[in-house]
Amino acid sequence: MRDNQTFTLIKPDVVSDGHLGEIVQSIQDAGFKIIAIKLTRLSRVEAMDFYGVHKEKPFFGKLIDFMISGPIVPMILEKENAIEDFRQLIGATNPALAEKGTIREKFGTSITKNAIHGSDSIDNAEIEGSFYFSKRELFV
Ligand code: ATP
Ligand code: MG
Repeated sequence: MRDNQTFTLIKPDVVSDGHLGEIVQSIQDAGFKIIAIKLTRLSRVEAMDFYGVHKEKPFFGKLIDFMISGPIVPMILEKENAIEDFRQLIGATNPALAEKGTIREKFGTSITKNAIHGSDSIDNAEIEGSFYFSKRELFV
């Protein structure tokens, strides 16, 4: 992945609520180009691995149950200043505290069911992107 790219993951709540298309559109409208996208699901073991940094947190079990509850849509996005601008577009972790107009404010329903993930650094974007996409899918 390049340093003008980020990784995102649309969470199961959005897919089951029927807001997938709307969110993909709003990401493109904000100037992000879709480099890779798929609809997939996580097994419990995969979800525990992906969220491994949170395994000691009190919310871990709830987070894993939620993340395996239905299909998810991981994506690689490209834009200048992608990591920071995308975190801005999605808003704070807790939808109740997210700035008006952000994706989490509009579509998140709780701190766990917060609609979407955005990588917090280039290194994590790289790790998270390669968790979901093969080299062939990333054209590297
Ligand atoms: P993400 O990594 O999904 O972009 P984030 O960086 O804003 O979100 P993290 O602290 O990395 O937040 O937490 C990862 C995910 O765990 C959150 O997106 C949310 O779904 C869940 N989570 C975080 N904090 C809590 C909490 N206090 N209670 C319940 N769930 C939480
Ligand atoms: Mg995070």
